[in-house]
Amino acid sequence: MRKVAVVIAALAVVLGTAGVAQAAPGQSDNLARSATATASYTSSWESVAAVNDGIDPSTSNDTVNRRWGTWPNTGEQWALLTWSSAQTLKSADVYFFDDNGGVRVPASWRLQYWTGSAYADVSGVSSYPVAVNQYNAVNFNQVSTTRLRVVLQSGAGSVGLLEVRAYASAIGTTTPPPSGWNPPSNLVQPLSEVWTHQEQTYNNLYGFRNYAWDQIFATGGSINYCVRWDSSASVTAAQRDKIQATLQRQFKKWVDVMVGHNGWPYATVPVKVVGWAVRDRAQLQWTDTSVDIYVNNIRENAPQCGEPCGRFFNQSGNYPNCPGGASHHYDMSLWLTSGFGGGAGGDWGQRIGSEYYVSNLDADNVHILLHEMGHSFGLDDFYDWTPTGQCCFIMKAGSATQITEFDKWMLRDWWRHLKNRWGY
Ligand SMILES: [Zn+2]
Repeated sequence: MRKVAVVIAALAVVLGTAGVAQAAPGQSDNLARSATATASYTSSWESVAAVNDGIDPSTSNDTVNRRWGTWPNTGEQWALLTWSSAQTLKSADVYFFDDNGGVRVPASWRLQYWTGSAYADVSGVSSYPVAVNQYNAVNFNQVSTTRLRVVLQSGAGSVGLLEVRAYASAIGTTTPPPSGWNPPSNLVQPLSEVWTHQEQTYNNLYGFRNYAWDQIFATGGSINYCVRWDSSASVTAAQRDKIQATLQRQFKKWVDVMVGHNGWPYATVPVKVVGWAVRDRAQLQWTDTSVDIYVNNIRENAPQCGEPCGRFFNQSGNYPNCPGGASHHYDMSLWLTSGFGGGAGGDWGQRIGSEYYVSNLDADNVHILLHEMGHSFGLDDFYDWTPTGQCCFIMKAGSATQITEFDKWMLRDWWRHLKNRWGY
């Protein structure tokens, strides 16, 4: 693979899993994840643990992930986050459950904290929005507390929540990315160092035409994946769907960095899994035809999806010999290998351990996958040097568990340098 993929510096790099350091503080530091969730009432088929499991819902009528709901109970209902030690809180946002039936957005809601002897409303809130299909953010005067309670007053039905996030800093007060290239002043020098280093170490940085950027533009704004299931374990349809949903969620974290920035044209970049490769068809315990299945097509000692359908093998973007046609092509592979302890990433996709991936299906940040996806966009490793003033970021393996501001600006810098390829 090294021969064909020219992102040599980014290829087949093993990421140690030991010694994970702290991520840089930021708005993505969701303190709710470390709390225990309880509620006034929970319908027997719902789960209050849904409210802080870190899963971003795609809509208020989420039928895939677990939810917290109080049907048939109405009136005042609450969900409570309890920490084992006091937390400094300054903001929270909530995603309402609304199935347009028995569970609806509340008529009103508010946040309360535990003073040590009673619940009190947080102060300084300008409004409590009740929008569906998005987070509803609230900033408030800072409190230090072991409990945060979301109190809902029902409206047209019972109430529920899909997710609650809580933060030590205010939401939305950071300056949004400017329309042109204008990184924070403290990042100008380290970003320049990174780009210079890449120009010096990549042997075909500007000529290479199979970065994830190229793949996105080749399809007009989407990415197809094929899963290489390099394991003897079986996979149910439900597991398949979660594996795919996790992939979509992680890819979105990178794409969201670009939305609204410097002429980037896509508001979303949908990720579709079009195929699975496996040694034995019987391992895949579904009968539906929602994905193509490639059986015992072994390359690199692992199942591989058909080459005629793979972008890596057809970099013109044409797939004349792909049985299902271009719509069945895959841009990248998600290569999940049993017993694999690190990661590798490049234009061909990402490779990580199958056990690691499956055990992180509910994780907000699957950090090894995020790192390897960074390589697919061209981002480099930082094994032997560190840009000025930087310590911890996802592309410096083992130093962060989520995409940081520096990672975001490195990604945007790639767009700055490549965008004229597509006329921007
Ligand atoms: Zn790496």
